[in-house]
Amino acid sequence: MDSDVERILKQARKSISLYCINECKAYCCRKGNLLLKKSEAKLITKRLLNKAELEGKISKNKDGLYTLFFKDNNHICPSLIDNMCVIHKNRGRPKTCKEFPIYKKNDLIMFSSQCPAVIDNLLFSYIKKLFAKGYISTNMTNVFRKNGILENKSKKNNNQRVFCQQANKAVEKNFLKINS
Ligand code: SF4
Ligand code: SF4
Repeated sequence: MDSDVERILKQARKSISLYCINECKAYCCRKGNLLLKKSEAKLITKRLLNKAELEGKISKNKDGLYTLFFKDNNHICPSLIDNMCVIHKNRGRPKTCKEFPIYKKNDLIMFSSQCPAVIDNLLFSYIKKLFAKGYISTNMTNVFRKNGILENKSKKNNNQRVFCQQANKAVEKNFLKINS
């Protein structure tokens, strides 16, 4: 695992923390759902897992995992208070929460298209760092080819060539800007 890349991703996530609280107001803790291990489900429901199940806020899946549902302001994450995560410093915090809005799986890095910080391109300086590390956008293959960048990278760095998948047009546009 490339620790430099991990560091970049950590810094990127940290860089938006004030935006998450003040601007976005924790959108990702209010909408959608979250897949959890039992230990994570217990922690996130403040040890009131059974109560949350009865209230229909969380349900146990066949595979033993739990799904926590966020629907509206009355159905937000039980660990969200004043737009802040009260278990943020807990090591047992759900993995998805630790990683969001950037996920890394082997050579693929994904930026969530649901996250306003990604949509507003606030992470672009980190995307540039990833690019410098040899990551390229799967969305941008044609542009890189046109500019001769893809071929150069393939020749120089064939084994390390990896892909960074951008989430939206806003990010693509900025990639175009710096590379044109
Ligand atoms: S959706 Fe994105 S910007 Fe909003 S709180 Fe979550 S990570 Fe932060
Ligand atoms: S555990 Fe924290 S980060 Fe995860 S959804 Fe709940 S409030 Fe948000």
